[in-house]
Amino acid sequence: MELNDFPVFKTLTEGVAETFDLNSPEGRQAYFQAKAGQEIIKLKAYLAEKSFVAFLLGKKNSGKGTYTKLFMEAVGAEHVGHISVGDIVRDAHQIFETGKGKDELLAFLKENYRGFHGVHEIEDIVLGKNQTTLLSSELIISLIKYEISKRPRQAIFIDGFPRALDQINYALFLKEIVGYRHEPDFFVFISVPNSIIDERIKYRVICPVCKTPRNTKLLATNNVGFDEATDQFYLNCDNPNCSAMGTRMVGKEGDELGIEPIRDRIEMDNQIFKQLLQLEGVPKIYLRNSVPVEKAKDFVEDYELTPAYHYRQDPATSKVETVEEPWTAKDDAGIESYSLLPSAVALSLIKQVAKTLGL
Ligand SMILES: [Zn+2]
Repeated sequence: MELNDFPVFKTLTEGVAETFDLNSPEGRQAYFQAKAGQEIIKLKAYLAEKSFVAFLLGKKNSGKGTYTKLFMEAVGAEHVGHISVGDIVRDAHQIFETGKGKDELLAFLKENYRGFHGVHEIEDIVLGKNQTTLLSSELIISLIKYEISKRPRQAIFIDGFPRALDQINYALFLKEIVGYRHEPDFFVFISVPNSIIDERIKYRVICPVCKTPRNTKLLATNNVGFDEATDQFYLNCDNPNCSAMGTRMVGKEGDELGIEPIRDRIEMDNQIFKQLLQLEGVPKIYLRNSVPVEKAKDFVEDYELTPAYHYRQDPATSKVETVEEPWTAKDDAGIESYSLLPSAVALSLIKQVAKTLGL
């Protein structure tokens, strides 16, 4: 199977005619309950007793963290965890930098690390003093094991592994390595067209206070302002938990280049993807973000599609008005497609995980 051949998941559900506000937590709860209520009950019962290990595989910025968070929102966060290899490496760096937790980590590595560096060298390597040595796959594995050892009763989504071709072999044996011999593991492949990743990067903004990510084109807040000086519209944070509601969200330098600066990374992710797609013996879940325009009607609801936003200012009152319109982009095969909202993709994740676990 190729990336573009992933089946379109049917989220149209018989007997569910109402529309849901997928931008609010309450709306999403109602949506998940209406469309996957049975699966959620079974998953909760399963997770109270057992766990699983899921490897999230997708290009950079394909939404791996987002889909996991929504899965946790639906089935409860108590027995589900998300491990990002990037975070693990940063945590290890911090442990060695501050010394806090260092003894525990070193003791764990003495017991569990097998590789070509002595445990005494690892501190320097992680802290980057040893510039010639990148973190080896053996060390990454040990750090993943350490993180997993701290979450004994959790199902885990692993994000960011394997991230190089030489790590694929390790991934095949990780289940044995981490001692989850009796727990199922599976791959979650995420297909998102490059054109959509490009737009996500170009227009992304973040609240400098609460770090909520948004997108001026694809995911607006309900508080939009206009800057006379730059002649541009901007989003204000509308997170009710944010201590500074109304804070102006900001973009990052370089994001206007979109996908270009990470083309090599995306190409590497694609190669890993293609290899693992051919792997037999591991259950696979296919998540697909894009839906060809001509198929959309038979598979999804309008409110499950990502709209585009633009803004205009009323010259009389200076009030900013948000205009929502349908948005399409070409997928990697050049087919005009809609982009699903994250909740609709998470719905297919919930249903497929339940099925994969035999619930
Ligand atoms: Zn905020």
